[in-house]
Amino acid sequence: MKRKVGIMGGSFDPIHIGHLVVANEALNIYKLDEIIFVPTGNPPHKEGLKADSFHRLLMVNMAVLSNNKFSVSDIEIKNPGKSYTLNTLIEFHKLYENAEFYFITGTDAIFNLPSWHRTEEILKLCRFIAASRPGISIEEVNKKINEIKEMFGGKIEILQIPMLQISSTDIRERVSMGISVKYLLPESVEQYIIKNELYRGMGTHLPV
Ligand code: NAP
Repeated sequence: MKRKVGIMGGSFDPIHIGHLVVANEALNIYKLDEIIFVPTGNPPHKEGLKADSFHRLLMVNMAVLSNNKFSVSDIEIKNPGKSYTLNTLIEFHKLYENAEFYFITGTDAIFNLPSWHRTEEILKLCRFIAASRPGISIEEVNKKINEIKEMFGGKIEILQIPMLQISSTDIRERVSMGISVKYLLPESVEQYIIKNELYRGMGTHLPV
């Protein structure tokens, strides 16, 4: 039988409890054998992540420590070029000869997926799982998914997670304004952010 491997792709700037809940739900629902978190190095579509890849990678490592089915890959971070999902999937297919891959990311990705680098090939190499957060119209996402399937084929599904109300953007804003982020991310990650003064605005302090 093929090994079922989840690849959790995202900036993780920073990783939070919502991401971990998504990964755990995907593990249960799709009966995955493992999930590999792959923080983006140099995303092709946007500029200026807020924390260095070095910090993002370390925070993801800390966050997944307590789950033996979770691991982290630096495959995109150590690659100096653009982080294309197609290249990542090709590399994982080489590493795991007898596996099927589930690429897990946010639903926002669905709206841009047609303009990703070689979408059709990506969809041949994985099942695409889009985790939805409250406030995103499932009808709109489903409409887009149907369009993409008509254009490129492939398997694309929505995974609805209420806990994903938590967002990295909100966490960064809270930190910059000195508002507590306790319980929104693993304590080790919160402590790491404080210690390394990540996401701080000028003159603001994170309450401990
Ligand atoms: P992002 O900026 O980190 O996230 C976009 C949205 O999706 C945010 O709302 C984010 O929430 C959410 N999200 C991100 N990762 C998630 C995950 N694993 N589970 C649940 N929600 C998640 O990510 P992005 O830049 O859209 O990239 C997502 C993935 O797609 C990455 O692996 C990236 O390399 C890949 N991608 C590839 C291409 C390409 O190959 N051409 C183009 C675009 C994206 P938070 O802010 O709370 O994380």
